[in-house]
Amino acid sequence: MNAQDIIVPQADLGAAYRAQKDAIDAAVSRVLNSGWYILGQEGAAFEREYGAWLSGGDAPAMHAVGCANGTDAIALVLRGLGIGPGCTVATVSHTAVATVAAIEMTGATPLLIDIDPRTFCMDPAELLEVIRNPPAGLPPIRAVIPVHIYGHACDMDAILGPCRAAGIAVVEDVAQAHGGRLNGRMLGTIGDASAFSLYPTKNLGALGDAGITATPDEALAKRMAAIRQYGWHRRYISDEVGVNSRLDEMQAAILRVRLPLLDRGNARRQAIAAAYDAALADGPFTAPYRAPGVEHVFHQYVLRVPNREAVMDRLRALGVMTAIHYPVPVHEQGAYAGRIATGPAGCAETSRAAAEVMSLPVFPEMTDAQLEKVCAALRTV
Ligand SMILES: *Cc1c(COP(=O)(O)O)cnc(C)c1O
Repeated sequence: MNAQDIIVPQADLGAAYRAQKDAIDAAVSRVLNSGWYILGQEGAAFEREYGAWLSGGDAPAMHAVGCANGTDAIALVLRGLGIGPGCTVATVSHTAVATVAAIEMTGATPLLIDIDPRTFCMDPAELLEVIRNPPAGLPPIRAVIPVHIYGHACDMDAILGPCRAAGIAVVEDVAQAHGGRLNGRMLGTIGDASAFSLYPTKNLGALGDAGITATPDEALAKRMAAIRQYGWHRRYISDEVGVNSRLDEMQAAILRVRLPLLDRGNARRQAIAAAYDAALADGPFTAPYRAPGVEHVFHQYVLRVPNREAVMDRLRALGVMTAIHYPVPVHEQGAYAGRIATGPAGCAETSRAAAEVMSLPVFPEMTDAQLEKVCAALRTV
């Protein structure tokens, strides 16, 4: 194929399936023939394997509980912690709307904190400010959800310190950062509990909806496992109020194929990022910032581009597709604007970021020819 004929999509889910086709087809066939389709051996094995993978190294032993999607995973952790009506949960506006939707699903009240403009993650200084001086009219802050956006870790030490001191739970949203680390610690093992989306586009993705929670607290894990299925601690007996958010066996079996491939996929994402860094070195755009101690797993490789539409058009003309994550911050969306509390900064950095961010193509199956094509295009813009 000639270089000008190569199109580089922003992501390519079909390429991932084709690369793993034999193993995935065998896993699906195994489930189809088993006669057991929801919450069975595959799901239990995936939970064990995910907990063990998270626990690698010095992390505490993690208990993982599968569920239907990443939004439910966040809500399940909050419900497991007893957070609901009468509680405020602080998070960011620069996130998938799912983070905020999950808080409201539990009946809790969201409070949106601004971001650090370098990392795009929660600004710990503003969090500390709202813990010390809570905005008037809100229920007490009971939990904080830092979002490791794009695969870059939040400043967890600065977030955990004041939260621990105030008795506030810390729930990591790791939907974009499976396998990322902070000072050698796996993301999702640092707070009290964590929630992962396993949506097909994520660094670890199913071929349908799926999610998983994790915690070092075994009692919390047991409680979440009950709440995800009608509050059953014993079959047909609801000792507490629950929901239906189960992980199906087909997705669990597919995820068991993919989990051992995740580190290699993240390494490929990092190699792509390093090539983009080099291609951008003498140009007008600044490569994404990595804070000290952060191992970034590049769910997205995000640039700030003031004349974004023109640059996206130019790249598209060169066969390079880009995306915007996310064009409208949660606090400015119709469903939330004027209704959701923000911190004293009014999410000004969040609004600025939303107007400038642009995500280059990143996916582990990107070929060297595709990568070279993106790098060549970047050198011309
Ligand atoms: C994808 C995502 C979610 C929600 O996950 P779903 O599986 O789509 O429900 C939550 N938070 C963040 C940051 C995400 O990127």
